Amino acid sequence: MIYIGSHLSVAKGYTHMAETMVDYGGNTFAFFLRSPRGGAAKEIDPEDAAGMRKIVEEQGFGPLVAHAPYTMNLAAAKNEIRMKAEKMMREDLSRMDEFFPGNFYNFHPGSHVGQGVDIGTYKIAESLNNIVHGDGSTTVLLETMAGKGSEVGRNFEELRELLDRVEFPDRFGVCLDTCHIWDGGYDIAGNLDNVLQEFDWTIGLDRLYAIHLNDSMNVCGSHKDRHQKLGQGEIGAEALKAVVQHPALQGKPFILETPNEPAGYKKEIAEVKGWMRKD
Ligand code: FE
Ligand code: FE
Ligand code: ZN
Repeated sequence: MIYIGSHLSVAKGYTHMAETMVDYGGNTFAFFLRSPRGGAAKEIDPEDAAGMRKIVEEQGFGPLVAHAPYTMNLAAAKNEIRMKAEKMMREDLSRMDEFFPGNFYNFHPGSHVGQGVDIGTYKIAESLNNIVHGDGSTTVLLETMAGKGSEVGRNFEELRELLDRVEFPDRFGVCLDTCHIWDGGYDIAGNLDNVLQEFDWTIGLDRLYAIHLNDSMNVCGSHKDRHQKLGQGEIGAEALKAVVQHPALQGKPFILETPNEPAGYKKEIAEVKGWMRKD
């Protein structure tokens, strides 16, 4: 089996998110700890957080996958922007440790904005080492990127390079986004086994902690990063079903980031549950 859920809005609080996912029929979810565009973090009401933890525990949810703001760029050229990004991540992680310990925090490694991938990689790793130390119960996940613009992490090698440079590798892992790797040129519809084999050789499947399950509006290798509803994009339902059923991916949280209203997520969660292996 796998855990399945979707991205949710925190607008109505943390307990409300867990209630929403119970209503959707899922058993994990993703959320931002602040506006996806960054900005100041709203204080977390301890009771609201406790309400969420209670539901998550009672319902036997899998690990949750918090998402860093999209604008957080640890590779920024301007030091001021980079220091702001570090502050954001440090705050988010301490909030995770305090209110939702033992879960995942996923982030886009960064964009080198013309500095080149080597400098980008150097900066991201340096920032991660400034932020993430041996203490803390949150596992930090680097997301596989589509290679839009100057994104770092556009292939497995670039993620491996980052993981090789962090001082506390046990605190890190990878979140695989099916739309992103497809757009990045990994043909998961044509040969899923080979792609996962390559992941294993380059990074190691033991470093894979979570999946973002999305279809893509564009063809393999397009580097576009436009998510689509399951089965309505270029990856297709058969290929996504094979991802859900793949032996190497069992036991992991799968998060839908498809362009959906609540009713759409409910439907997709039911669909994925129908795809799941029964063993
Ligand atoms: Fe993401
Ligand atoms: Fe994603
Ligand atoms: Zn995306």
